[in-house]
Amino acid sequence: MSNVTRPDFATRATNLSIEGRAFINGDFVGALSERTFHTINPATGKVLAEVAECDVADVNRAVEAARRAFEDGRWRNLSPKDRKWALLRLADLVESNIEELALLESLDTGKPVDDALAVDLPDCIETLRWHAEAIDKLYDQVSPTAGDVVSLIVREPIGVVAAVIPWNFPLVILALKVAPALAAGNSIIVKPAEQTPLTAIRFAALAAEAGIPAGVFNVLPGYGETAGQALGRHMDVDCLTFTGSTEVGRYFLKYAAESNIKRITLELGGKSPVIVMEDVTDLQPVVEQIAKGILFSQGENCSAGSRLLVHEGVKDRLLAAVVEHFKTWRVGNPLVAGTKLGAVIEERHMERILGYIEAGVSEGGRIVLGGKRILQETGGFFIEPTVFDSVDNKMKIAREEIFGPVLSTITFRDTDDAVRIANDSDYGLAASLYTNDLHTAHKVSRAIRAGTVSVNCFSEGDQSVPFGGFKQSGFGGREKSFAAHDQYSQLKTIWIQLR
Ligand code: NAD
Repeated sequence: MSNVTRPDFATRATNLSIEGRAFINGDFVGALSERTFHTINPATGKVLAEVAECDVADVNRAVEAARRAFEDGRWRNLSPKDRKWALLRLADLVESNIEELALLESLDTGKPVDDALAVDLPDCIETLRWHAEAIDKLYDQVSPTAGDVVSLIVREPIGVVAAVIPWNFPLVILALKVAPALAAGNSIIVKPAEQTPLTAIRFAALAAEAGIPAGVFNVLPGYGETAGQALGRHMDVDCLTFTGSTEVGRYFLKYAAESNIKRITLELGGKSPVIVMEDVTDLQPVVEQIAKGILFSQGENCSAGSRLLVHEGVKDRLLAAVVEHFKTWRVGNPLVAGTKLGAVIEERHMERILGYIEAGVSEGGRIVLGGKRILQETGGFFIEPTVFDSVDNKMKIAREEIFGPVLSTITFRDTDDAVRIANDSDYGLAASLYTNDLHTAHKVSRAIRAGTVSVNCFSEGDQSVPFGGFKQSGFGGREKSFAAHDQYSQLKTIWIQLR
């Protein structure tokens, strides 16, 4: 975006009026307990807003409203075309408020506002439009039968959906769940992460303005152990879709097993390999993609390319170029033009990342760039782009998700070795492969156990392709594409005996 048209976000931030109440049954309301909590701006460490702290009583209230809306058919009985138009209006409203939403997202998450404007918001809008446009083009089926029977296979919404979401891409992930769930005719309750509830709350006002009926879309800010758990255990929630850590994802399987066996889908963590083969000649574009893979969003990205697997013949050249390029990623105030890395989400998370860096050193990794907290005087939580050499895949920094701007370099001897190391992980969300050889591209991308393998780029693809994890990176379904509609609908067979 050019500096000429770029708004003065710092001034706008001081004039922003922020809504912190829950949105239940078409109204903004405080928590029944009247309790509130603070969200913090990660770039300053200062309080940003006071937010309703919803708990089990508010969950019960929201589920009742969502159930009533579902049962009386105010949304699900509209024609798919009418649901489409409401969702398209919502996408338009998000677009016409794009600068305000990008600013809120940046203040709440610490990410550069220019990233929110160029990536998060367009992605959210695109997701809403894709699923809105899909819903009146999906046909049911008639099965092959004898002439005296008509057999219909119809797709129906599930009912009350709850979505528990993380803090790294609040609006992007909200849209990934809300768009297909609403398109299919469900009611939904969103519980944003306690660190980043503000854009979900603002989105609720736009949903109401777009004509999504009361009770159909609800937002409950609150803590995971209280509001999140209450949704997971609620006997009248039919489907729970979760994005977050593998550790918390496990709880939802338990909550479901101990309550009503609600449908559960989990989008979880990752430790994605980036494989660079010896045949790659032009390293610069590869280096740029490696940087995007681990530094974009401060490395707080589930599919971050955090393990750099490089052929021993090209390692020294590649690593030198990586270090030089990473130095050009400017860390700083997320509201200033040109900032490429903002603050990480909170102090506790920053300490966790620094703990991993220490563990990497003590296990024999060698830091070739970064490794420290910087800009402490701002009160914010900033970490330098960090690159490790001499990492063994058995080390903690190669096995656990760091969720920060920390790259671990591991050397391999040949293709089999690369595939073995890539697959030696509990996770299987994404992988990137760089090669000039067509045969290697096809063979290695098939051999890697991950939900998305990108070749000669770092990408999750667009809305038209499924996204989700193998192994402990996911469970129960896929987001994006028509696969997302499978998460939020169920098949019914209607078997009609003709007389
Ligand atoms: P988290 O698991 O700590 O929290 C996610 C959500 O779960 C939050 O809303 C939180 O309040 C809630 N929660 C926490 N404890 C809970 C409990 N005991 N019961 C019910 N709910 C609870 O994750 P995070 O730190 O917000 O996000 C980072 C994680 O998310 C990383 O592991 C990352 O890989 C993952 N992630 C995955 C994807 C994907 O699509 N696969 C996308 C983004 C993030």
